[in-house]
Amino acid sequence: MKKIAILGSSGSIGKQAIDVASKMKEDICVEALAAGSNVKVLKAQIKKFKPSAASVANDSDAKELKKWCVSNKIKTNVYSGQSGLEKLATMPKVDMVLATLVGSVGLKSIIAAIKAKKDVALANKESLVMAGDYIMKLAEENGVSVLPVDSEHSAIFQCCVGERKDRIRKIILTASGGPFYKYDGDFSKITVERALAHPSWKMGKKITIDSATLMNKGLEAIEASVLFGVPIDKVEILIHPQSIAHSMVEYVDGSVIAQLSKPDMRLPIQYALTRPERLKSNIKFLNLAEIGKLEFYKPDFNKFPCLKLAYWAAKKGRAFPAVMNASNEIAVKSFLDKKINFTDIAKIVEKTMKARKISKNTLSEDFFESDSWARTYARNLIEKEFKL
Ligand code: MG
Repeated sequence: MKKIAILGSSGSIGKQAIDVASKMKEDICVEALAAGSNVKVLKAQIKKFKPSAASVANDSDAKELKKWCVSNKIKTNVYSGQSGLEKLATMPKVDMVLATLVGSVGLKSIIAAIKAKKDVALANKESLVMAGDYIMKLAEENGVSVLPVDSEHSAIFQCCVGERKDRIRKIILTASGGPFYKYDGDFSKITVERALAHPSWKMGKKITIDSATLMNKGLEAIEASVLFGVPIDKVEILIHPQSIAHSMVEYVDGSVIAQLSKPDMRLPIQYALTRPERLKSNIKFLNLAEIGKLEFYKPDFNKFPCLKLAYWAAKKGRAFPAVMNASNEIAVKSFLDKKINFTDIAKIVEKTMKARKISKNTLSEDFFESDSWARTYARNLIEKEFKL
């Protein structure tokens, strides 16, 4: 029986993890649940799993939740804020932390979990982009595993089982292409509503916009490079509109190993929780004859400049990926708020990256500082130059 803490249980991945856990009651015990401010969803989850601890973002929600637990005769300890997250991430009873929280809040709890010698199932790609080398080194020092929950990285992980890392020729990261890979019109006219209509995955708003700009794939390329210890130029991106081959690994002998399945996030979540075991799931089986054909195309880096920015950031290394990630977050938020155009997102990220001076002495450990610098810079830039 594996005891898990889910940080971000009310989000899209968190809810699917809850769904996976509720169907695996013999193998998985939900020991702790943290949600941001969606107390209603959290209450339903607490009712279902009766975890020993729960945490919410602010104190007033925590007070209300405590009262609710008492009146429902539920013995869950309630915490709040950053300290609450870290409490849950380091609980002695917990074997594995499923980390889905975005931003520096998420990163701090991941670091706390690794230091407490917990395996971490990582659905938060931003933290690996921000502080990948540091996280992987810390995990190695503490003898714990960092397991990917992202569908592509879970695929790569599965394609690497039993293989030697130095025999990898390249990683082929597949991308659905988002809604615009075939679009030939004016990208600056793309509306929020159109960008939010993703063809194959239903996800949170930020990641859906990242999928439309292909920044999501850029972040994933960096994530793959960090997780599997291969240089960024050995990570190739291919558009694969069917979203059936979730990624592949090519070996030096010419073999390409791929992982295929229906697109369903519950599969990578379950594999992260149960590996090396494979357990039955509720996911529909693949019918390749029905699908008929699988297509692959090279992405157009000029149409999707965010891809260029991601490879550039990865090559520059140090805290540049953190700067890229933070300015992208600010730009995406502004796009969602209809303050800037779709094409401004990449422009803002590029300008912020170019403005960042990182000396040779700057360590990649300066990610928190670089992150907050980039946020402030990008916000000012939007106010001054981009606001519609
Ligand atoms: Mg993905």
